[in-house]
Amino acid sequence: MEVAELLQQMIRNGCVNDGTEASGHERRSADILRQVLEGPGLDLEVHEPSPGRASIVARLDGRREDAPSLVLLGHTDVVPANAADWQHDPFGGELIDGEVWGRGAVDMLNLTASMAVAVRHLADDGFRPDGDLVFIGVADEEALGTYGAGWLTEHLADDVRADYLVTEAGGFPLAGANGMRLPVLTGEKGVFWCTLTVRGTPGHASQPLRTDNALVKAAEVVRRLAEHEPRADIHEAWRGFVEGLGLPEELADPLLDPDRISAFCAELPALGLARQAHACTHTTIAPTIMHGGTKLNVIPDRVQLELDIRSLPGWGRTEVEKMLADALGDLMSDVELEWHSTEEATTSKSDTPLWHALERVARQSYPDAQCVPFLTVGATDARFFRRMGTVAYGFGLFSERLTFEQYATMFHGIDERVDVASLGLSAQLWDGLARQSLG
Ligand SMILES: [Zn+2]
Repeated sequence: MEVAELLQQMIRNGCVNDGTEASGHERRSADILRQVLEGPGLDLEVHEPSPGRASIVARLDGRREDAPSLVLLGHTDVVPANAADWQHDPFGGELIDGEVWGRGAVDMLNLTASMAVAVRHLADDGFRPDGDLVFIGVADEEALGTYGAGWLTEHLADDVRADYLVTEAGGFPLAGANGMRLPVLTGEKGVFWCTLTVRGTPGHASQPLRTDNALVKAAEVVRRLAEHEPRADIHEAWRGFVEGLGLPEELADPLLDPDRISAFCAELPALGLARQAHACTHTTIAPTIMHGGTKLNVIPDRVQLELDIRSLPGWGRTEVEKMLADALGDLMSDVELEWHSTEEATTSKSDTPLWHALERVARQSYPDAQCVPFLTVGATDARFFRRMGTVAYGFGLFSERLTFEQYATMFHGIDERVDVASLGLSAQLWDGLARQSLG
């Protein structure tokens, strides 16, 4: 089976992950991947920690025990899509004008399909890599990885541990003044999710004077959080990205200056770039959900406020709690803090054999290309592997048919699609990468 056809089938499987254990149904795509991968040279294993939540591991044994191993990691689940908003059926997997349409076309069934096909072709060729080459198609990336990469790295660490790993999402061609730049995701921010409970005293709402109203207090908590801005930190991945792009000085200088970047982002007309630049250089706080009050005529005694905090590398729970205390000031003593997630940022160095191998192989498609590091503000399954010591990057290859802005809006957005040429470039990338020495 070729990449486009496999991608179409995986889109039609509709492995929609809504965050509940009963969703996902990745078994459907694990079964198709098993059909594609089955055959001489590959050892296959399917793991299903919860009904339907299947992941597949395919291993091509290396020739040398001591040579570094490489994992190609793709997820098989997708986020929901509302068909009414799309030009074409999000789960139709239609091939229209050289593009495959559907949920997951760029996030990241395109890469998962191209990885599986490339690994099968390598095995068919009788190719033996130096170190083990492992393809893993995982469930549950779009929630927390509980039934996918999280489960595998916890329960089968010895089977899936690797020296090097590539997964989503990078490699979107960026035309710069000095030639093409291909971002490699070398790290991702930490995820600190919490509930702040703001306490008050109940009373009759017909006499509000000098009452201790939790909602009024919570409004002030939200205001302080929204206004608070920790100092910018120019992380090496952000520096490498901005410097690598070869931006004009009037843009590059403020983007690399911790004293100027906040004001610069506040004024920058390009809103997408401003948000990205701000998020890549700050630990951010976004209040997202508030629940409070019990009855229209009762002064509320309790409000729950949920926060999505994304931390820069180097921030732990202590630093995040100190930031909240700084933001809230005297109100800190009126809130209770409950953590749901305290996952610190993870990063891999950029000057590694994998980095250079990716750049060499990418240049077979884009001769003037240069890789630049990038810190993603979202989360990928790479984090589980970085914590085990793996050098893990997000990368892929794409044609120049769609712009970076188009790709960016398609992730979890509408009219997600990928051109067939991009699928071919990715398949060549994995094939070429497997043939590189990482030792
Ligand atoms: Zn993804």
